[in-house]
Amino acid sequence: MPEDKKFIKEFEQKVKDTIKKYKLCNKKERIIVACSGGKDSTTVLYLLHKWGYQVEGLIIDLLIGPWSEENLKNAQSFCQDHKIKLNVVNLRNEFGCSMCFMRSGIQKKVKLNNCMICGIIKRWLLNKKTRELKADKIVTGHNLDDAAETFMMNLLKGNMKLNLGQGPATGVIKDKKFVPRIKPLYFCLNEEVKRYSQINKFPVLLEACPCSVEVFRKKIRRNLTEMEKNNSQIKHNIVANFLKLLPSLKNKYKNNEKLNYCTACQEPSRQEFCKMCELIKIWKS
Ligand code: SF4
Ligand code: ZN
Repeated sequence: MPEDKKFIKEFEQKVKDTIKKYKLCNKKERIIVACSGGKDSTTVLYLLHKWGYQVEGLIIDLLIGPWSEENLKNAQSFCQDHKIKLNVVNLRNEFGCSMCFMRSGIQKKVKLNNCMICGIIKRWLLNKKTRELKADKIVTGHNLDDAAETFMMNLLKGNMKLNLGQGPATGVIKDKKFVPRIKPLYFCLNEEVKRYSQINKFPVLLEACPCSVEVFRKKIRRNLTEMEKNNSQIKHNIVANFLKLLPSLKNKYKNNEKLNYCTACQEPSRQEFCKMCELIKIWKS
């Protein structure tokens, strides 16, 4: 359909412009896309591969029942069809059990929600595995909706410092053990990524994770969607204004952002022990 062709052209141009404007990556770098099997990471993997970047996928199999199985199957079939190498990290090989088992062990001892625990484990593994693969950058599939929601959540929680890691590229941290993260879909709306992946018939699951408990994020999402009915630019405006604030935010916290290495695992950490090792300590206690 002609309107699909026009949409695809504009969508791809927007992603290209983001990469260029923020100097996100170049074709000499080794790039790992953090794949979930979902529409966002599949779209960004497809585009970077199509444009000739040295790209591989990495999926962390969280072993969350049929949802994880389906996502893994989709990522594998997509990568096979497009001749892209997919690195699979299986939680059982890393920790001897599934995410659900690990999480319930931790939750018997501390009050942390599913996504907090899962997020810490995924971030730790992603950085470590990507560095072991000698990659220069980690690409995530975060889109404009994610960016607007995250900024509003941190603002309403009264913790602007959490926004330091936001933006199309990672915040102020520069360290040889920390692989920089980039978000080429940063200016693409969730609905646009969905449409792009549907037009291209990517094998992706649109169902949310069965363990998702992000109540606050969902509330913000509902409110933004409601407000969007009267102002279609609302998410763009939030993100554009956040990006105007970001340089002064980085400047304010630049001296506080020293990174050390965790005493237990030697991974980057601001404290003596990283959040991952703190979780393991709680789990095994
Ligand atoms: Fe993990 Fe939460 Fe994402 Fe599910 S929704 S994969 S529990 S972070
Ligand atoms: Zn550690």
